Amino acid sequence: LNRRLEGFGTTIFAEMSALAVRTGAINLGQGFPDTDGPAEVREAAVRALREGHGNQYPPGPGIPELRRAVAAHQRRFYELEYDPDREVLVTAGATEAIAASLLALVEPGDEVIALEPYYDSYAACIAMAGGTRVPVTLRPNGDGYVLDLDELRAAVTGRTRLILLNTPHNPTGTVLTRAELAAIAELAVERDLLVVTDEVYEHLVFDGEHHPLAGFPGMRGRTVSISSAGKTFSFTGWKVGWVTAAPELITAVRTAKQFLTYVSAGPFQYAVAEALSLDDSYFRSLRADLRGKRDLLAAGLEEAGFRVYRPAGTYFITTDIRPLGEDDGIAFCLGLPERCGVVAVPTAVFYDDKDAGRSIVRFAFCKQDDVLREAASRLKGLR
Ligand code: PMP
Ligand code: GLN
Repeated sequence: LNRRLEGFGTTIFAEMSALAVRTGAINLGQGFPDTDGPAEVREAAVRALREGHGNQYPPGPGIPELRRAVAAHQRRFYELEYDPDREVLVTAGATEAIAASLLALVEPGDEVIALEPYYDSYAACIAMAGGTRVPVTLRPNGDGYVLDLDELRAAVTGRTRLILLNTPHNPTGTVLTRAELAAIAELAVERDLLVVTDEVYEHLVFDGEHHPLAGFPGMRGRTVSISSAGKTFSFTGWKVGWVTAAPELITAVRTAKQFLTYVSAGPFQYAVAEALSLDDSYFRSLRADLRGKRDLLAAGLEEAGFRVYRPAGTYFITTDIRPLGEDDGIAFCLGLPERCGVVAVPTAVFYDDKDAGRSIVRFAFCKQDDVLREAASRLKGLR
């Protein structure tokens, strides 16, 4: 393993899912739904396979039907206009979109600002691109977490190339407000920065509203927006993601993407094009359903004695384990399956500031209500 990747080892998600399989514990670690997305969308994939749509290499930027559907989605939900031919790129999940964006836009030695705790692939991709990660920590405050805008401004130096943003934010569930995003946009314009914004949880917002950064003044031309069918349609295994950005940025990201995967699986692209055209009621009921699950698990965790940070979005709840007389999240998560048959993710691994994340543990609530109830009842045995 080269020096750039030293220390990255196996992702915490794979490690914790393997622990769940090994111990038979309920897996509230890795974020994937235990119910698949809409039947008609699955049928669309089967139909595409059967009828021979996408069984051979699809076009490099993605099939036109999906690029048009992505553009229509941006218009429908955000009134943002993108040219499907020049400003949309289909990727192998958001993961590839993140990698291709960083590999395309970061020069060795460039600094990349990322909100901490950061999704693990950000750190690895910044490293693979030869960049330097500059974390700005979201701090617990009341029920949630806050971004200190002064700290963000102070993190920008002459070497800063881009801000890697994530809202709604994994793992904290923070949804950046319009005012915070406006301040980030102002900073990006003032310091002439690009922003790569990971908005995979755009439709999973329970309190407040998701505002795409690309819609703020001065941002349309300097923002690379990323999303994925994994979260919005509950098909994490299909690995269909997309990027929207100005033509020069899309061209750059596509250049890198060509040599990572060339293209992503064809038949799923046809199905996701149909999924993106589902009517508003699909998106509303997804949100309502997950809001109920958030409330169910949050109540269970509180009863079990955790300090619960209430997520405004995503399908994750972070908790502080200190009220349980524990303070090492990693040791806690490693012992949890044996103690009570539940798997969670220690967020310490998403921090450079290990003290800040030491006692924080993340639980996923994209699971059936019965599973969440059973997990909560097991966790009550901890006290
Ligand atoms: N970004 C964030 C913040 C995520 O939580 C995830 C989780 N899956 C991804 C990107 C990756 O998305 P995909 O599965 O589409 O590659
Ligand atoms: N995004 C998912 C999570 O945060 C995991 C995806 C992965 O395993 N790479 O749990």
